[in-house]
Amino acid sequence: MVADPDDDRPKEACGVFAVRAPGRAVAHLTYLGLYALQHRGQESAGMAVSDREHLTVTKEMGLVSHVFDDRTLATLEGELAIGHTRYSTTGSSEWWNAQPVYRSTGDLNFALGHNGNLTNTAALAAETAMLPGTVASDTDLMAELLALEVETQRNLGVGDDDLLTEAVCAVMPRLEGAFSLVLCDTDQVIGVRDPNGFRPLVLGSLGNDWVLASETPALDVVGATFVREIEPGEVVVIDDAGPHSHFPFDDDRINPTLCLFEFVYFARPDTFLGGRSVHSARVRMGEVLSTQRPVEADMVMGVPESGIPAAEGYARASGIPFGQGLVKNRYIGRTFIAPSQEVRALGVRMKLNPLRENIEGQRLVVVDDSIVRGTTTKAMVAMLFDAGAAEVHMRVSSPPYRWPCFYGMDTGARDTLLAANMTVSEIEEYLGVDSLVYLELDNLLAAVGPTKGTDGDPADEFCAACLTGTYPVEIPVNVGKHVLEQTAAPVASQPSLYGDDVSGGNGSGTGSASDDPGSASDDPGSASDHPGSASDDPAPGGSAPDEPTASARRRRVVSDPKPAATYADAGVSLDAGEEAVRRILPMLRRTHTPGVIADIGGFGGLFELPSGYERPVLVSSTDGVGTKLEVARLADRWDTVGLDLVAMVVDDLVCCGAKPLFFLDYLAVGRLDPDRVELLMSGLVAGCETAGCALVGGEMAEHPGTMDPDALDVAGFAVGVVERDRLITGDAVAPGDSLVGLLSPGLRSNGFSLARSVLIDPDDPAGSLAAPAYADAPAGPSVADELLCPSVIYSPAVMAMLDEAQVNSIAHITGGGLVGNVPRAMPEGTEARLDATTWERPRIVAEIARRGNVAEDELRRVFNLGIGMVVATPDPDVVIAAVRSVGVEGAIIGEVAPADGPPQVRFSSDQ
Ligand code: SF4
Repeated sequence: MVADPDDDRPKEACGVFAVRAPGRAVAHLTYLGLYALQHRGQESAGMAVSDREHLTVTKEMGLVSHVFDDRTLATLEGELAIGHTRYSTTGSSEWWNAQPVYRSTGDLNFALGHNGNLTNTAALAAETAMLPGTVASDTDLMAELLALEVETQRNLGVGDDDLLTEAVCAVMPRLEGAFSLVLCDTDQVIGVRDPNGFRPLVLGSLGNDWVLASETPALDVVGATFVREIEPGEVVVIDDAGPHSHFPFDDDRINPTLCLFEFVYFARPDTFLGGRSVHSARVRMGEVLSTQRPVEADMVMGVPESGIPAAEGYARASGIPFGQGLVKNRYIGRTFIAPSQEVRALGVRMKLNPLRENIEGQRLVVVDDSIVRGTTTKAMVAMLFDAGAAEVHMRVSSPPYRWPCFYGMDTGARDTLLAANMTVSEIEEYLGVDSLVYLELDNLLAAVGPTKGTDGDPADEFCAACLTGTYPVEIPVNVGKHVLEQTAAPVASQPSLYGDDVSGGNGSGTGSASDDPGSASDDPGSASDHPGSASDDPAPGGSAPDEPTASARRRRVVSDPKPAATYADAGVSLDAGEEAVRRILPMLRRTHTPGVIADIGGFGGLFELPSGYERPVLVSSTDGVGTKLEVARLADRWDTVGLDLVAMVVDDLVCCGAKPLFFLDYLAVGRLDPDRVELLMSGLVAGCETAGCALVGGEMAEHPGTMDPDALDVAGFAVGVVERDRLITGDAVAPGDSLVGLLSPGLRSNGFSLARSVLIDPDDPAGSLAAPAYADAPAGPSVADELLCPSVIYSPAVMAMLDEAQVNSIAHITGGGLVGNVPRAMPEGTEARLDATTWERPRIVAEIARRGNVAEDELRRVFNLGIGMVVATPDPDVVIAAVRSVGVEGAIIGEVAPADGPPQVRFSSDQ
């Protein structure tokens, strides 16, 4: 990875946003709010939206504009939402650490977004006997503590409406460090600020509605009016009655110390913090800086973009003309690989290019806001001299950055900090500048000024630990970015492509200077400069400059000049796969029910067993749709076979009386066609929605060379739950029970090899399928229409009948027809006597019989004959009424009779 001009700055923490606005498009408002907070984190983005019944969490790696689009947002209707943009400070930069974090406990579902960093993470994990790997980040740990506390509060008799608030007020005092939080359950939004108020959090009003945000521009962008800052140590709960506050911390813990670096660099310039304009403060920093060691020069220039306001102030106060010396390429990509030192040096120019005509022969004052590791400042200075600068006088609008931050900024280990290893004059020499001046701390505090409305000493109002080494909250020795991951990988962990932590932990336990791909945004809409990727360049005092780091060596392997074989050459299109996933993700999320714990994208689908079961039994089933897929392929119709798949799988489950919980699919193709996948998945999603089960994951595999390009196969797997003593086994079936048939208008997914051989001419499959199914109905349905008639999904009907009637057995009529499946649900000593005149067969069955001269016995063994399920019950009328209430027709088609030998089916017409 190349050196990055932003590398000399600490990485920002996170941005949080929340809105409670019934009747407004809360997901869109959250999107706008997060967009305004993009500068605080570019690794991942997410939001949780509640429609007052369901809480849906959507999060992905990437920028806000990459994670959300109109299609995604359109699926996120609700009345309240929280959102988050992440830069990792505890826990690696991986999907499972993206936020909001979601938890479900009993009937309470909640989500949490965190800006900051806990300092007692390891102690809390140990205190609560958290098993290694249970949680991966401090935020995850917080959510776990809250979930446990919810249970405690519930056991104490706290009502559902107050559970989350009570849990928050009980857990927050146990946390130490920096935490500005937004939380929500299905009804309310909660904001929390730690007793030091390290990170900002503001409250705004939107008419009668309410907004919380890390910074005031996020209020502006959604049209909200600033109301006030959330006080350090305050918990604000926003519900139907509006905001109301709790103060759960002991008074002696309240010690407001806002991060001073919010003013220097982190916050947007148009933000107001503590009643102060950040932009004005930065201009004043430059003004005061000009009085320290004045220098004769021809031009003052700022390092784009966050050095510009201080440069303006410097120029104004010094009388030296302000000019532009560096042009920032705003469209730079997120990361790129540079195989050599020579090319790495060029990397600075990828972001910044000198404006030669303004620089040549000039004595320059170059103003930047901070220098953390120094590598790219050095490269930038060299670039200015290469462009003809006569002198470079470096001015920094903050004091030397000598100590790591543990309160939510990823600065790297202390031994990587330039000013921790060198004196100012050594740094001056290292950078190769004519002079170097850092703003003194007193001058920085004077530039920021006292809190509006007070005349207190600013030194008491701020954290400046990274400048002074005096930490307002004690730092344990084992705090660090990967503190929870050092003992065990998270449940879903996987090494990243380049390794997770190239610098590793060290004795000081500081956050590592990782090669996380969190990086500069190429987003021209953002008003603020963004931090870039951490460079692989060694810090001065570390390895020799030309000695590649382990990470750099790995990257050189990636850029081996030998002709490279690619997956695309081998017939697998990763682009098509990504496109297919992009299209189907919003659809999949529509199926998510409250039990879903994690969004699509993890290594395993997570689903929490619903509460209320005393002895829950999990029931599973798997199936495909057979050669009905071949009909879909020949007809090029893909929107119904997904429904068939759900019907085949879920309707097996419900025969045990199980309520469907979740579904997974497997799709294998010769060549991945996103259009086809989208259509197929649209049917599958519709099926899952009908069945009331969540689609929690799946696999899409492209098999070039082993499957024809046009070939496709699909399989499904589902899990349901039933109370042990309500399990339907068929043992209760008794002579005298009625047999109720649930009608099926088509073949479902059975007998298609026979149907195809009879109805489709192999020499003209397209013509056969397009032809009218029935000679006497030339304008009627085609053969394709009849064969691709979607299967009825019976699970809602089964759930309805189980609520109303005694049901002794349920048989799903699949391959083997009535004669093969009804006996599967009956005990020894009984038989099913069916009267085939009591229902009407689908006409296509008769047509297959006619055209293929298929015998009646064969029809009975192959097709369902128009009955998709058979229910043995003493309450047939109740069953029929119950299934009709959800749109399924039923009829009494026979009865159970005593018999000798194994169960079987007899048709009355045979006797
Ligand atoms: Fe801000 Fe520095 Fe304090 Fe961290 S240590 S909170 S960056 S002032």
